[in-house]
Amino acid sequence: MKYISTRGGGERLSSAEAIIQGLSANGGLFVPEELPAVDAAFIQGLVSLSYEERAVAVLQQFLTDYTEEELCGCVTRAYGMGKFDTERKAPTKMFDDCSVLELWHGPTSAFKDMALQLLPQLLQTALAKTGETADVLILVATSGDTGKAALEGFRDVAQTKIMVFYPQGGVSRIQGLQMLTQEGGNVNVTAVRGNFDDAQSGVKRIFSDAAFGEELASHGVKLSSANSINWGRLVPQIVYYFSAYADLLAAGRIAYGDEVNFCVPTGNFGDILAGYYAKRMGLPVGRLICASNRNNVLTEFLRTGTYNRKREFFKTITPSMDILISSNLERLLYHAVGNAEQVAAWMRQLAEQGSYTISKELLANIQKTFWADWADDEATKATIRKAYETKHYIPDTHTAVAWCVAENYQKQTADRREMVVVSTASPYKFNGSVLTALGVSTDGMDEFSMLDKLQELNDNPIPRGLASLRDKAVRHHDVCARDEMKNFVAAFAKQ
Ligand SMILES: *Cc1c(COP(=O)(O)O)cnc(C)c1O
Repeated sequence: MKYISTRGGGERLSSAEAIIQGLSANGGLFVPEELPAVDAAFIQGLVSLSYEERAVAVLQQFLTDYTEEELCGCVTRAYGMGKFDTERKAPTKMFDDCSVLELWHGPTSAFKDMALQLLPQLLQTALAKTGETADVLILVATSGDTGKAALEGFRDVAQTKIMVFYPQGGVSRIQGLQMLTQEGGNVNVTAVRGNFDDAQSGVKRIFSDAAFGEELASHGVKLSSANSINWGRLVPQIVYYFSAYADLLAAGRIAYGDEVNFCVPTGNFGDILAGYYAKRMGLPVGRLICASNRNNVLTEFLRTGTYNRKREFFKTITPSMDILISSNLERLLYHAVGNAEQVAAWMRQLAEQGSYTISKELLANIQKTFWADWADDEATKATIRKAYETKHYIPDTHTAVAWCVAENYQKQTADRREMVVVSTASPYKFNGSVLTALGVSTDGMDEFSMLDKLQELNDNPIPRGLASLRDKAVRHHDVCARDEMKNFVAAFAKQ
């Protein structure tokens, strides 16, 4: 299977090449040239398999240039070796009226681990397969979750180095400690004096600096990205939609062929897009419900067909969804319209004018699969409280946004198919907001007393990675100005 750009042009790469390169030369995202199809026997066959075996079966459909042995090795190193705190990796918790797909049992307690544990393994294998001898330096700008998950995924992976920039004072204390205590011989964490946009645009400038790229190449270093624009980060996420369906079959919640709806807390549109790929491959998925916070640019788009990023930006209690440009929507548009020139034109309009509008027919077509709504902070907190009171279950804030929207969907439609709420973070990761939602005052509490307090209310223990932060030494002290980022990259690359 070959990969092509959503914006056209002649590039046609193997999956290994697409994963090394990250973004296509014309700025488009790599997509599979055709979508693989699976049958009932394939899906029913997943029921008796472990998560790792399910992953290999699904990955094989897309990564056709990797051998089965290579994929097994990648998957074992990603999900095995005691890195996840549950044998099932992505368990589906079933309640009377819905199910919750828990994607946060990995080392950093956020769903980013599902992809960022596997991407480094796929990348390292790709380097070996394609005979690439350069070291790959992964640059990440993070507002919190991605940085830590990427550091943990790439630590000590041969032929790679990783450098994470975060806004000084712009991440939570837990998130900061998670990054600053990072171990590994190939990692660097640097605070930028500025906000997240400063860090992000600094990284983008470095990527597009051709002369700097050549300078690094002469030192045997190539830059790449661990962002969800990379196909190697998207493809691992398709697995858990299949896995959830297999879990529901195994539990007798559904019969084969019954369609299941998924409600997904959405930011960059990567997670929900993976569900779309699963549906297109033949998994019986009904509706994909896109849940946003007050930054509801996607709700508006999926309702009206106009994507408009010229709007006020709000800080919410779901920071991982505080985003106005959802990169992966471009992949959906490509698959829905099948016309790369049209996609390129919309993306140009978005960059130049800040908005674009798709046709009524295309919107109607997209709406057959997607439904969208949003929840504000108050509704989100009320949903956490209700889940605790009625189910003795504590969702994190992002999960609660999806749960709230899933309930709105069921109130507003007659659709009673099985509903799976996709759960993207452990409640411990956003302990302050969760405690407040539960009516517990956090005045004067530090992060660690908040973890302890939440533990008193929650059946799940504090995740190892968060509990151990108490005793870990801070290993990273670098701080740079916005215009010094390039120098810091050069210094780390040449180490
Ligand atoms: C990244 C993230 C999301 C958003 O996922 P996308 O793939 O960007 O749509 C939702 N919740 C949490 C906790 C996240 O870390």
